[in-house]
Amino acid sequence: MLTEYIDSAERAAEIIREGGLVAFPTETVFGIGVDATNGDAVAKLFEAKGRPSNNPLIVHLDDGSHWARAAAELPTVARVLLDAFCPGPLTLVLPKLPIISHEVTAGLATVGVRIPDHPIARAILRTAAVPVAAPSANRSGRPSGTTWQAVSEDLDGRIDAIFTADSTTIGIESTVVDCSGLDPVVLRPGAITLDQLQQVVPQTKEFEAGEKRRIVVSGEPVNSPGILHPHYQPHAEVCIVEVPPVGISVEVSAVSAFCGTEGFEGLDGFALSKVFGSLEDYAAGFYEFLREVDRQSFERVFIQTASQEGIGRALRDRQRRAAGG
Ligand code: AMP
Ligand code: MG
Repeated sequence: MLTEYIDSAERAAEIIREGGLVAFPTETVFGIGVDATNGDAVAKLFEAKGRPSNNPLIVHLDDGSHWARAAAELPTVARVLLDAFCPGPLTLVLPKLPIISHEVTAGLATVGVRIPDHPIARAILRTAAVPVAAPSANRSGRPSGTTWQAVSEDLDGRIDAIFTADSTTIGIESTVVDCSGLDPVVLRPGAITLDQLQQVVPQTKEFEAGEKRRIVVSGEPVNSPGILHPHYQPHAEVCIVEVPPVGISVEVSAVSAFCGTEGFEGLDGFALSKVFGSLEDYAAGFYEFLREVDRQSFERVFIQTASQEGIGRALRDRQRRAAGG
């Protein structure tokens, strides 16, 4: 397939309405959009990403008032969260509307709904006027695409079009909150923190490992099917370290990469390094740094563990999974 490089929301919307796959920017990461009511098109998307079919997709809408285009119901707590944080980096898991293809939700009775806060994404969604399922724009298992060039590396020839926009600003996927039960449960940390959620809905909980949830995949209760699969992994080995790192020899650093938010003695000895000015910058640049490590064929990258503040919690989650654990 020949991938079109586009910069028109109208063209993107047209391709989506015709059942095609278009990568476009959101404030979190780039997504690959597809008409969520078109099961054949959604199946092509799983194929293009190499995504396991039991990992559901998030449905994107241009405005919070359109929630009924994807969800059967908006429980009170979900309405409160929607009013407080949407548009924004928050996904609400809600009872599903039948029109959303079951390929999108991997057969679940719930659907993840998000209203992105990005002018290009919203223009595409508004013009397409259909619910748009959009997973991160990367081959399954790889670091998410935060620049159109990264998207092109993974998906050129596999999807219909790529929107050549600026890099994304947040750089980490949305916070996913299950609102289909009694109290909201955070299934995946993101830029909207547990603290922020609890300020508007105090009973919001964090998912606890071992907790029994309704979602059942291959006989096992899991919080969010996506957590079953490898994610965010570069080809290089990822080692999470404190700063200053200990026990890294001069020989090893000379053939390795490092990224973090603090410098230290010995930093100059790394073949490739990046010290981000803030935790937000670290989150925004993390995936792209991992990709650069692969472009330069390093065997190993040392990453400074993120602090637990703000977006640090979400970044830590991605770091742990990039390291394969
Ligand atoms: P990605 O598209 O790569 O950002 O991944 C989407 C994430 O949302 C995965 O972790 C999914 O497990 C999660 N997700 C999507 N829909 C649902 C749902 N209906 N119930 C629970 N988790 C969901
Ligand atoms: Mg993903």
